[in-house]
Amino acid sequence: MVNREGISKFVSEILEKLGIDTSQSINISDVLRKLDIELKYDESLPYDGKIEKKSDDDSVCITIKSSSNNEARNRFTIAHELGHYFLHARGKENFTDSVFYRNLDYNDEEFEANEFAACLLMPEKQFREEVEKNVEESEVKIEPIAQRFGVSLQATINRGRFLNVFE
Ligand SMILES: [Zn+2]
Repeated sequence: MVNREGISKFVSEILEKLGIDTSQSINISDVLRKLDIELKYDESLPYDGKIEKKSDDDSVCITIKSSSNNEARNRFTIAHELGHYFLHARGKENFTDSVFYRNLDYNDEEFEANEFAACLLMPEKQFREEVEKNVEESEVKIEPIAQRFGVSLQATINRGRFLNVFE
């Protein structure tokens, strides 16, 4: 069961606890540093990202297949993996994320990790405020909103639809 409200609340608690500045696009490296999670890039990864917990010292590492020319996508991938970290990986030796969000074969964990990522990168309050600022003749300008949050246009549209602020 996917509880979107619960995830949203959970993410805002995490942001607050970590003292993350939400007045600008979330500094994802800062989030990782505060959680003591290492980030690695691996071009040979057969999927977009994975998260692993080493059993010997309990250290956590996120590996993503970087798209060097797409920072927004990298950010979403990292945030998605953080979703698995907080929602699904606890108490497990390792968690390999093989079904990524672009895959149509959604399962609840993937859906939840995406929801977590959307909430992390586009907190509801800030998102609503940004939409207000970008309404022109009853049309919402998507691009400046996407830039403000450092996410893709599609991620912005999905978020706006879910929050019922877009058509
Ligand atoms: Zn996933």
